[in-house]
Amino acid sequence: MDIATLRKILELERKRSYRDDAVVGGLDRYILRWADEFPQGLLPISYANLDRGQREDWVTKVLHRLNGVEGKILEPKRAKKTTRRQENLDAPITTIKGISVNQAAKFRRLGVETVHDLLYFFPRRHIDYSKRKTIAQLEIGEEQTVVATVWQAQVTNLGRRRSTEAIVGDETGNMRVVWFNQPYLAKKLHTNSQLVLSGKVGLFKGVKVFQSPEYEPLTEDLTHTGRLIPIYQLTEGLSSRVVRRLVKETVDLWSPQVHDFLPEDVKSRVQLLELSEAINQAHYPENELLKDKARKRLAFDEMLLIQLGLLSRRRDWREGGKASPIKPDQQIVDVFINCLPFTLTRAQQRALKQILADLAKVRPMSRLLQGEVGSGKTVVATAALLATVASGYQGAFMAPTEILAEQHFTNISALLARAGEEGNLEGSLRAFSSILPQEITLALLTGSMKRREKEEVRRAISEGKVDIVVGTHALIQQMVEFNKLGLAIVDEQHRFGVMQRSVLRQKGSNPHLLVMTATPIPRSLALTLYGDLDLSVIDELPEGRQQIKTRWLDPEERDRAYRFIRKEISEGRQSFIICPLIEESEAIDTKAAINEYERLSTDVFPDLHIGLVHGRLKAADKEQAMKRFRLGKLDILVATSVVEVGIDVPNATVMLIEGADRFGLAQLHQFRGRVGRGEQASYCILVAENPTLEGRDRLRLLESTQDGFVLAEEDLKLRGPGEFFGTRQSGLPDLKMAKLSDMRLLELARKEAVRMFKGDPQLSSPEHQPLAVEMARLWQDGFTELEA
Ligand code: ADP
Ligand code: MG
Repeated sequence: MDIATLRKILELERKRSYRDDAVVGGLDRYILRWADEFPQGLLPISYANLDRGQREDWVTKVLHRLNGVEGKILEPKRAKKTTRRQENLDAPITTIKGISVNQAAKFRRLGVETVHDLLYFFPRRHIDYSKRKTIAQLEIGEEQTVVATVWQAQVTNLGRRRSTEAIVGDETGNMRVVWFNQPYLAKKLHTNSQLVLSGKVGLFKGVKVFQSPEYEPLTEDLTHTGRLIPIYQLTEGLSSRVVRRLVKETVDLWSPQVHDFLPEDVKSRVQLLELSEAINQAHYPENELLKDKARKRLAFDEMLLIQLGLLSRRRDWREGGKASPIKPDQQIVDVFINCLPFTLTRAQQRALKQILADLAKVRPMSRLLQGEVGSGKTVVATAALLATVASGYQGAFMAPTEILAEQHFTNISALLARAGEEGNLEGSLRAFSSILPQEITLALLTGSMKRREKEEVRRAISEGKVDIVVGTHALIQQMVEFNKLGLAIVDEQHRFGVMQRSVLRQKGSNPHLLVMTATPIPRSLALTLYGDLDLSVIDELPEGRQQIKTRWLDPEERDRAYRFIRKEISEGRQSFIICPLIEESEAIDTKAAINEYERLSTDVFPDLHIGLVHGRLKAADKEQAMKRFRLGKLDILVATSVVEVGIDVPNATVMLIEGADRFGLAQLHQFRGRVGRGEQASYCILVAENPTLEGRDRLRLLESTQDGFVLAEEDLKLRGPGEFFGTRQSGLPDLKMAKLSDMRLLELARKEAVRMFKGDPQLSSPEHQPLAVEMARLWQDGFTELEA
């Protein structure tokens, strides 16, 4: 049994308040697998059936015992070449000979805590020092390697720097080598010893010279020179030589202990390296071909584990309980549609049909509705809510922020009211009037409501007096008991952890679930990120939508942009100004945004009303600023990238984005979607200080197209999915090797996952057990991350 993993799982379970969700599918599955090895008297009959108190007792007891056991295992001397050794992969890296507690602390900064972490601490790239030359053959400016004899080494002053200078030679000649600022090397380079030197060769006064090359004594197994050499991420106090040496020793000694969790038949079908071989080759590849093969194997593992995780969530959701089939009353839905002031696009009709068909089933719906801002998702969602209510169930609509919840509440109420207006019901349809909108009760539930109001709404919901509740995610999930929840709709899924879905279910109800997102997600990515959901796409905008004129300006033209904003404001319009994304630090971005805000309000627009929102504001203050902007009390809203998805300010006509090249295409497109929501012609102005070639490509593309899917595909190609939206936001485990843009491998992994899942959905057969453990390891890290 893998004690450290079990311990992690139990600790997670404790942290999550014993809700039986530390591992996908619940603890019982995991416990059963290890039943034989459990310490006597500690095996619960079924964890799921224990109450909270009993769960706590049990977890505490087992953890207590495990800590005792693990203490023993951690003694490094006990490590023998048996399966026992396998367990030690989860031991802290201080177990490794030569890693001090001090170094371990530094490694922790790089996310490396256990032996396993270090084995999986893959280099960011390799330098090719495999081209071995004689001194005579060396060419200026290329990465090359020589093996030479040290004739002389001494400390010398080069400029003001104390350095080491050596003369080395081989059968073809001699050359100079200098290491700047490293006087201590002189002593280490013994005369007549054989040295391997790798690096670029330069020319000094007509003589070839190596400047600060990598070096090491000649041995059979090189670490720093003479081959493909890994380049690792470093941190203060850990030099590349130290990291390389430690990783090399660890890989050599421990990788043979790594248990290959992939079944043989998968390996042979997909033609994958053995795991230990792959780990070896990923760090110190023999050649480029093996390096690629190693990457393929490790990337495949990640994709397979993700697909298995998604499949099991999908299964859990579907089989976790039956939903109430909601037979939609087509006539009522038709009334609603006929009363709209427009006709649904074909894409809307298709999506609605899929949703209504899902609702009618006993198997709970689990569907993602994807469509650009303004593509008409809300209308479709409202029709589904109406069908739900008409069948006697309640509906919930959850938005990521308060202001969006309010916006949706207003929109949904207006849409339903239309259908309920007198005169819109004719003939036999009058018969349904009793359940049509004037009888439908909507409620809004947000954090800023008074406590008494909130309580009242909650009571009304639990008593079934409210048919549709619109509110923020958190409020609805945490505080509301429904009387008869039939359909839950979640807006902006990618900010909504997958975990929360299971929370919803644990409220006792098993509603149909529809998640909506306005972020155009390329199909490949949708399959990966939301492989546990069915997909509906609204890929068509209603007719007559305005083009938003998009211009990319040089920084010198900024004044023109300001004059333009001024002109729009003088005509009664409003403008957004987005501050540049400086780096992945909210603190620094916030500071920059405050500076920009001050500059704009004192130097540029002293006479106008300007507001500021950034990530460090309290939610309430942020909402307040947004609200003032929406009510027209502010002319300009200066914002960091936090400006809300979906916020609707029809009077805003200019979106000025500073540092536009620093944002991804998908995000720029989202920003642009904030304007052009009213009648007025609207504009998007992009300013970029110093765009790279790739940045220029992106800005040009944005100028030329308004199709979110085209932009998203390009974004994925240009920047990769990690940046498309962080894995953290997606609720997926971190990927080290896999590139989600590698569609071919993704499809292979998916195929294998489906095959495996079909034959052994619990992954309980002996050959799949190691996979199940690996899955727990990967997804558990993902979950903890999400909670942080
Ligand atoms: P989304 O939620 O996808 O951003 P909405 O449902 O809020 O889009 O629709 C945006 C606007 O377009 C709303 O004012 C809505 O009434 C309108 N609308 C929706 N569908 C259509 C359509 N088929 N034709 C014309 N206008 C539409
Ligand atoms: Mg919307």
